[in-house]
Amino acid sequence: MANSKYEYVKNFERENHLLPSCYILIRVDGRGFHKFSAHYEFAKPNDAAALQVMNQAAEQMMRQFPDISVCYGDSDEYSFLLRRNCELFERRESKLTSTFASTFSALYQFYWREVIPEKPLTVERLPTFDARCVVYPNAEIVRDYFRWRQVDCHINNLYNTTFWYLVLHGGMTTKEAENRLIGTLASDKHEILFSQFQLNYNNEPEAYKKGTTICREYSVVDAIEGGMMKMELSERQKQREEKKRKKAKVVVHHTDIINDKFWNERPWLLQ
Ligand code: ATP
Ligand code: ATP
Ligand code: MG
Ligand code: MG
Ligand code: MG
Ligand code: MG
Repeated sequence: MANSKYEYVKNFERENHLLPSCYILIRVDGRGFHKFSAHYEFAKPNDAAALQVMNQAAEQMMRQFPDISVCYGDSDEYSFLLRRNCELFERRESKLTSTFASTFSALYQFYWREVIPEKPLTVERLPTFDARCVVYPNAEIVRDYFRWRQVDCHINNLYNTTFWYLVLHGGMTTKEAENRLIGTLASDKHEILFSQFQLNYNNEPEAYKKGTTICREYSVVDAIEGGMMKMELSERQKQREEKKRKKAKVVVHHTDIINDKFWNERPWLLQ
């Protein structure tokens, strides 16, 4: 099989090996989910079942890739953080992005059939996801990355909640609701929801306001004793660490990840 005269074509291939010792962040995002969600008649602003499909797919990603230490998602996107010294696929970018996009797409379709069997997927409208890798040099920037996504979730959810209340309960067309919201601040949207619809936005479900964070949990003592937080490890220690990661509990949170508390309580996530 090897060494045919055609093999030189292989030399045209180029690999981008992502920088060593940096955090790799992979974000997947649904392709055309604005239309996808309309086609499958998602409840607006938040379809609980569709979010459950996203969250179960992400949880399964954590089980299949022990190098993911934490992930965060809302709407049709999920961000996966790989630990700094991860050697998955020799850190080849195209292998990582294509594998994450295709695995997530496959899992989404699997869980869709489980969670929403009453809405069969049709072949012309299958859910697919793109993926990109970003490399971050230090923990503080990684924290800012996750802050950025959660702030985005908050802004979008407040907008969408107000928009859909105006349309579904306020008798406006989508165009009218859009115009009504031009130039409004967060406080204006809270006020519209409260005075027109007696809705206190703060009482909306945490899963919608804060998105979903899934992480591996250890006790801090276990993490330190098990070497989870050391830089230099022997081969045997590495194998033990890998085993621990596979066995660790995977826990789902709908909580604030903008403040330091969440991260300070779980120092192993950013080691
Ligand atoms: P692109 O292919 O560029 O990502 P897109 O149509 O997917 O385009 P996004 O910015 O990713 O655009 O937005 C995703 C859209 O999917 C949201 O605007 C929202 O309307 C819809 N959506 C995703 N999940 C849900 C959900 N659980 N409930 C209701 N709507 C949802
Ligand atoms: P990688 O993840 O690196 O691609 P791999 O195990 O997929 O690893 P490949 O070089 O892609 O390795 O080889 C695919 C293997 O899958 C083949 O060696 C063959 O054994 C098996 N395979 C694929 N399709 C078929 C098929 N239709 N019938 C039998 N075996 C198959
Ligand atoms: Mg987009
Ligand atoms: Mg999308
Ligand atoms: Mg999106
Ligand atoms: Mg293969």
